[in-house]
Amino acid sequence: MKPDLRSFTAVELVSYLQEMGQPAYRGRQLFRQAQALAAPDFAAMSDLPRSLREQLAAQARLSQPQICARHLSAARDTAKLLLEFEDGERVEMALMLYAREQSRDRATCCVSSQSGCAMGCAFCATGMFRQFRNLSAGEIVAQVQAGDALARELGFSGVTNVVYMGMGEPLANPQQVLRSIELLNDAQGMRIGARRITVSTCGLVPQIRKMADWGLQVGLAVSLHSADAEKRRRLMPGAAHWKLDELLAAMLYYQERTGRRVTCEYALIAGVNDSLSDARKLVRFLTGSRILVNIIPANALPERGIHAPAAAQCAAFCRAVREAGIELAVRELRGADIEAACGQLRKRCGTDRKAKAETGEKTAAADTPEKARQREENKAECE
Ligand code: SAH
Ligand code: SF4
Repeated sequence: MKPDLRSFTAVELVSYLQEMGQPAYRGRQLFRQAQALAAPDFAAMSDLPRSLREQLAAQARLSQPQICARHLSAARDTAKLLLEFEDGERVEMALMLYAREQSRDRATCCVSSQSGCAMGCAFCATGMFRQFRNLSAGEIVAQVQAGDALARELGFSGVTNVVYMGMGEPLANPQQVLRSIELLNDAQGMRIGARRITVSTCGLVPQIRKMADWGLQVGLAVSLHSADAEKRRRLMPGAAHWKLDELLAAMLYYQERTGRRVTCEYALIAGVNDSLSDARKLVRFLTGSRILVNIIPANALPERGIHAPAAAQCAAFCRAVREAGIELAVRELRGADIEAACGQLRKRCGTDRKAKAETGEKTAAADTPEKARQREENKAECE
């Protein structure tokens, strides 16, 4: 396969073009086009000579996904794109918009790092895609570029924050994830500072320790979902390979090395991990750690018995954790009308024949009328 020049750093592009007999500044121009200017292809790089553009098109490529579905929440504050790469792999990218009156607007782009996931978490739609591949750094950057264009179209000044919380396990694809962060950070790229980037992991302990040694100020979020070892093993079989105390030690190591407080993500699932006894276990796990808790009311996955807790249950859980002195935030529920949880849109989209074959998903037998209407709308948009 031809090399994807959107995955190349500026230094690599300079030497790539020098090998073609071009001066160094051409490499820097090409980097700016592929990154900051988000050129869709070589032909669009009008500051490069036409002969060079033709030569590049013949021997290299530039990852550029097609948008095959585009959903905007009714409140116009959450958007989701289903993107298809050249080989037909599909991933989701979500955009969350926060308009602010005093300070700068915020637009957070949630990117995928793989087109499925091997970790098999019981509550996650992405885990249902068993055939998948790692994304390249250029394919991750291209998602941020698509988010940036969408944010601008919706009246914002572009993407300000990036979270690796879409499809896939970022630390199962660490090289390309690290490379994509370096590309996003670059002053000639999208200039997204490491402090405005967060990587979410299901808790791959050795990789968390390696990430602590990257020497970057990237935020780390660890999906815990239960501080009870047996329950966590059932919920997250792939991640529970490591013991909870090993996971905690890796999180503390990350805090110590980077000076950044780690966030612990906890999806509250009705009747599964939302009792006061679960809250007490979480408190015991985190006491004295300075780790922050982010509570996410579960996005329902009825076919797997996953439902959001009642508001009163959620409030009681949060109260118990807070009263024990643990800092906690509840993630606002956004985009439920556009299948905002990772993997849900790809699974739901009517044209995803590959996904249907993999999950064996039946059509809407279990849908409520509201869901069925939404599904029909989604289908129309996918077509
Ligand atoms: N693989 C990484 C990042 C992608 S998932 C990880 O697991 O952290 C991003 C977040 O969405 C994780 O915290 C994950 O546990 C959560 N998530 C997945 N399915 C969910 C669901 N149905 N409801 C709520 N959160 C969910
Ligand atoms: Fe993979 Fe994360 Fe989904 Fe678990 S929650 S299956 S690790 S994407």
